[in-house]
Amino acid sequence: LVSPIIRDTQVFELIAQEQHRQESGIELIASENFVSKQVMEAAGTVLTNKYAEGLPGKRYYGGCEVVDQIEQLAIDRVKELFGASWANVQPHSGAQANTAVFLACLKPGDTILGFDLSHGGHLTHGSAVNISGKYFRPTFYGVEQETGVINYDTVEETAHRERPKLLICGASAYSRDWDYVRLRAIADSVGALLLADISHPAGLIAKGLLNDPMDHCHIVTTTTHKTLRGPRGGMIMLRNDFENPFGIKTPKGDLRMMSSLLDSGVFPGTQGGPLEHIIAAKAIAFGEALSDEFGDYANQIQRNAQAMAAAFVAKGYKIISGGTDNHLMLIDLRSKGLSGKLAENTLIKADITINKNMVPFDDKSPMVTSGMRVGTAAVTTRGMKESDMEQIVVYIDDVLMNHDNEAKIQVIKEEINSWMKAFPLYN
Ligand code: PLP
Repeated sequence: LVSPIIRDTQVFELIAQEQHRQESGIELIASENFVSKQVMEAAGTVLTNKYAEGLPGKRYYGGCEVVDQIEQLAIDRVKELFGASWANVQPHSGAQANTAVFLACLKPGDTILGFDLSHGGHLTHGSAVNISGKYFRPTFYGVEQETGVINYDTVEETAHRERPKLLICGASAYSRDWDYVRLRAIADSVGALLLADISHPAGLIAKGLLNDPMDHCHIVTTTTHKTLRGPRGGMIMLRNDFENPFGIKTPKGDLRMMSSLLDSGVFPGTQGGPLEHIIAAKAIAFGEALSDEFGDYANQIQRNAQAMAAAFVAKGYKIISGGTDNHLMLIDLRSKGLSGKLAENTLIKADITINKNMVPFDDKSPMVTSGMRVGTAAVTTRGMKESDMEQIVVYIDDVLMNHDNEAKIQVIKEEINSWMKAFPLYN
């Protein structure tokens, strides 16, 4: 019998505490969501016991007949969901997916051009502390100070000056849609490959609510756990597989296609055995995302974000770029005399979870920041609608305007805990 002699109550007690925390508070972290019970169930199965290095039908281990079918299902479903012709669902995370692309497409020292981290970009797009910034020559574009929006003429100028091998679009804290057609023209004009990292808006893109990067970007990466509402993980997709631009051949002398370079970039390039329990959970999440109900859900995320942005603006908060096209917004707290750190630390006392975030041209450090980022994917999963977003903004404003009044914050917290019972999660 493999059950332990003594159940580890210490860890399970902590897990129960975390479940309680998630259920009783308002979750506004833009990169988080709540998976369905069946996604969670699959993630905790015997599949965690299986080694399956390789790809379905081409493994380095025996006994993969069943996991082959599971992984193939995940691949087939995600291809249908995004209209991809090829996908690798093995990356353990979004960072792993991006690293595999870099390994497949770049040589150490090559130039990459990404969206500035302090303007809303991601660490893996060239930050000095990430492998992308240490092993390659990172250069950046950002938003305009006056508008908070990307100026594609400036991106083009930067690309012509820096001559990147890889142009990266996509962000962690940018509330506007992307012009993939223009970006592809820029990439083509300097002979760069174009990578779209759609980690944040993937669920909205899958349901046609935002511009589709698949036709225009050579390679698309994403996490699976944000608006897509799957388990924590990553993946890479292509709509049009293309001959690798580096002339790398197979042992038979044929040119290797991009898909095969990317497969090798994941395994054996940057990972070992895939997490088949997570891939099963991904397959289920992709199945859910294919449904019409998920379309309604994605639509509601977007409507909720717009309602929330309007409510913030009505209370005198400044939203970078003035509004949102997707599920998130970045709020500049300087006009309220607050820092992001103070906002995060105060709101959590009322069980409202947000994250502090740099705003473009921030004069505060990344540990303090002048902004906060909020998103509506998780609260929408709980069944909240536009009027609930207005109520959330009332709570946030009340807490922030009374940040040194512990008694008042305690009263708001209790009100929130009781309100959240109306939006049950896992019972
Ligand atoms: N890319 C973008 C745009 C992201 O926002 C994130 C995570 O927030 C990642 C990549 C990294 O994903 P992970 O945390 O799964 O490595």
